[in-house]
Amino acid sequence: MSDSSASVERRFQGVPVSPGIARGEVWLHRPDDETPPRVDVGAEGVEAEVCRLEAALLQTRHQIQELHHHIAHSIGSEDASVFDAHLLVVEDRMLIDEVLRTIRKEHLNAESVFASVAGRYAKTLGEIDDPYLRERAADIQDVCRRVVRNLMGRQTRLSPPAGAARVLVAHNISPSETAQFLPSSVLGFATDQGSKTSHTAIMARSLNIPAVVALQDISQQVEHGDSVLLDGYRGWVILNPSAQTLAEYGDFERLKGKVEQELVGLRETECKTADGRHVVLSANIEMPRDAALVLRSGAEGVGLFRTEFLYLNGERLPTEEEQYEAYRSVLEELRPAPVIIRTLDLGGDKIMSALNLPEELNPFLGWRAIRFCLERADVFKTQLRAILRASTHGKARMMYPMISGVGEVRRAKAVLSECQAELRAEGLAFDEKMEVGAMIEIPSAAICADLIAREVDFLSIGTNDLIQYTIAVDRLNERIAYLYEPTHPAILRLIRMVAEAGHAAGIWVGVCGEMAGEVALTPLLLGLGVDELSTGTALVPRVKRAVQSLQSKECRALAAAVAEMDSAEQILAACETLARSKYPDLL
Ligand code: PEP
Ligand code: MG
Repeated sequence: MSDSSASVERRFQGVPVSPGIARGEVWLHRPDDETPPRVDVGAEGVEAEVCRLEAALLQTRHQIQELHHHIAHSIGSEDASVFDAHLLVVEDRMLIDEVLRTIRKEHLNAESVFASVAGRYAKTLGEIDDPYLRERAADIQDVCRRVVRNLMGRQTRLSPPAGAARVLVAHNISPSETAQFLPSSVLGFATDQGSKTSHTAIMARSLNIPAVVALQDISQQVEHGDSVLLDGYRGWVILNPSAQTLAEYGDFERLKGKVEQELVGLRETECKTADGRHVVLSANIEMPRDAALVLRSGAEGVGLFRTEFLYLNGERLPTEEEQYEAYRSVLEELRPAPVIIRTLDLGGDKIMSALNLPEELNPFLGWRAIRFCLERADVFKTQLRAILRASTHGKARMMYPMISGVGEVRRAKAVLSECQAELRAEGLAFDEKMEVGAMIEIPSAAICADLIAREVDFLSIGTNDLIQYTIAVDRLNERIAYLYEPTHPAILRLIRMVAEAGHAAGIWVGVCGEMAGEVALTPLLLGLGVDELSTGTALVPRVKRAVQSLQSKECRALAAAVAEMDSAEQILAACETLARSKYPDLL
């Protein structure tokens, strides 16, 4: 426990990204302090460890060569020469032979042996009073971290301690790590870094785990076992909460519980404005297990099934059969409700280590999502075939992410036709009429939405990325989070443009980014002409209540009025004023 054991209450303010209150002991995760666990693999496990080590050394070698190449081209070959020294480490026979001998003799896992042998080498060299050898020690440590990371990269690095559930505090958490959390072991989490639209935050909301991010250095301020209260509504982490604070939170939770209870009662009601305009209200899901929550939330179907989470934690790509089972289970559970399956959107903050993709300088602008799929037809076709085959088990729809222009839609459709032809030839059934849509999340696609609309059955606006790319603000970077403004006039203009383009082509237009779940913005989105809102299951009842409280006419008037305004703050204030007059308890 930290000095805080003196029990003085301390408050840390961060960004709330997943609602709820968590109270309990801290489980602190500081990856840099972590030495890989020693695992006895037994005599029979030795050869597998040797193979893992060899694969990790090869992978590390490729990474170093790539870094060398990149630095040599962008900065100069002199600066790249440090990587020559790193290559010598992965080729150091003395070091590698000792690691191999120890694995064979002691039957231990590769990462623990590599870390201990390399650590000893580095320590010995670092103690010699010679600048050259000290640098060599630093090289060994650097390469050692890389090899160990490659060895451990495909397994959970965050495994909760046994015993009661705790509040996890960490510097940062990846989406794939979050995807493996169980609410029974993680009460909530708090991180130094992070942002509201990161996939870690999206995952936390879908798991109903309260979370606060962007707390600067919380992971340095608390210790294992400290007592904390985490407020996922207002973004507080309270260390050593006093009796008075706990009592206040007790009252607050009772009040929240009452509002939530009332919202549950809306489940069977229709999502119509007070004057009767039907707005399709759908849910976003990340895992097949979320299907049950969709039904409970009162959503009409799934507006976005993010399929990446089927891929992120595996040692290999999921097979056609595994994917078919995953899609089929969701479609069957929700039948006859529609389920929009989004094709693979890897990249950005969703990294799949098994794919071994090269590191990029600008991953959000790089080889990802549909760009990756169109090049890796093997991966893409496996998924398309699985979706097509599953389509007979319910009402399947499908959409492509990260479309930048009409050419990509046509290419994707051509691959889809190939898969359909294959299935026909194999005598396998699929829904010939499955609707196919495009996500509009890149400004070029929004501006050319009229061209794209001619090629598809619907458009779904991914505002998380649309905001990121339009305002050029990295959605993960808390430093510039103040620029990430959903009510920026440019965003409003693009949404309106897409809605009008879709309607002119006779197709519907939805919003499936996080903006769709912000009840303060519900009147604005309706006023801009959006037909469908798709949000995390936990937010569905709130959005339904908001829609039911509004008149279409006042939504249109709001959209017209804010079109004359020039600042995001002013537009947001106008939206909040209307929302507060209709459903103050939801805000
Ligand atoms: C979006 O960008 O708004 C979206 C829904 O996709 P994701 O958050 O998965 O990038
Ligand atoms: Mg997106």
